[in-house]
Amino acid sequence: MTATDDDVCRRLVGRVAVVTGGASGIGLATVRRLASEGARVVVADLDTTAGPRVAEEVDGLFVEADVTDSAAVDHLFEQANSTYGSVDVAFNNAGISPPEDESILETGIDTWRRVQEVNLTSVYLCCQAALPYMIEQGKGSIINTASFVAVMGAATSQISYSASKGGVLAMSRELGVQFARQGVRVNALCPGPVNTPLLQELFAKDAVSAQRRLVHVPLGRFGEPEEMAAAVAFLASDDSSFMTGSTFLVDGGISAAYVTPL
Ligand code: NAD
Repeated sequence: MTATDDDVCRRLVGRVAVVTGGASGIGLATVRRLASEGARVVVADLDTTAGPRVAEEVDGLFVEADVTDSAAVDHLFEQANSTYGSVDVAFNNAGISPPEDESILETGIDTWRRVQEVNLTSVYLCCQAALPYMIEQGKGSIINTASFVAVMGAATSQISYSASKGGVLAMSRELGVQFARQGVRVNALCPGPVNTPLLQELFAKDAVSAQRRLVHVPLGRFGEPEEMAAAVAFLASDDSSFMTGSTFLVDGGISAAYVTPL
C-alpha cells in the first residue's frame, strides 16, 4: 500500500514546536515528524552544519543554542515566539553520553558535572523558559527526554547519565502536577535503546557487549528514532490531552521483562 494524503496525521497544524538536539538522531526524526503533522518547527542545536540544513528541509527556523546556557535558552524561546507567534510544544531532548562517564569508581567530577549540565540543567532551563509562554496561552505540551535507565539499573554503568535521567523524570513529573490546571502538560519520554550510530558502532566493535544488551528487549531489536518521534508527536498533540506527569516508556518492553522470549 502506498501512503496517500489521507494516511498523514495532521494533528499539529498551527502549533509551534521547539526541538533541542534537533540536528541528529531522535531530535532529527522528531523535527521531521512534527513538521509532517503541520507544526512550525524551531530546531535548536550546537551543530551549525546539520542544524540549518534540517531546519531548511522542514521550512523551519534554526537557532544555534547551547542548552546549558541560560541566556541562549531564553533567546531560543523568544525567537520561536517572535517568529511564529506562540510556543506550543517544547521537546527538550538534547543530551550526551560520553564514554568517560562510566562506573562511579572511575568517573571524575568534571565528567559528572558536564553530563549533569547538558542532560539535566538544560531541561530545567528549557522548562523555565518555555513555561511562561504556555501559562500565558493557557495551553502547552512539554516533553522531556529521559531514558529507560531512569527506571532500571545497568551493570554497564554510566553513572552521571543515569542519575541525570532520573532527575529529568522526577522534574517532569513534578512540573506536570504543578502546572496541570494552567493547561500545561509535562511528560517524560523514556526511550529504550535506540538504533543510533553509537549503538551501531558498539555492535560492529563488540558483538558480545551488544548482545548482552539486546537479550533484555522482548521485541528483540533496538528502537528506531522514528518510533520515538511518533511517541513525541502523540504527546505533543491533543490526542494525549488527559496525560501529564507520565513516565512514557517507549522501550520495546525492556522495563517490563524478567525473562525474554528465545
Ligand atoms: P544524538 O547524539 O544523535 O543527538 C543529540 C543532539 O544534541 C546532537 O545534534 C547534538 O549536537 C545536540 N547537543 C548536544 N549537546 C548540546 C548542547 N549543549 N546544546 C545544544 N545541543 C546539544 O543523540 P540521540 O541518541 O538522538 O539522543 C537524544 C536524546 O535521547 C538524549 O537526551 C539521549 O540521552 C536520549 N536517549 C537516547 C537513547 C539512545 O539509545 N539513543 C536512549 C534513551 C535516551
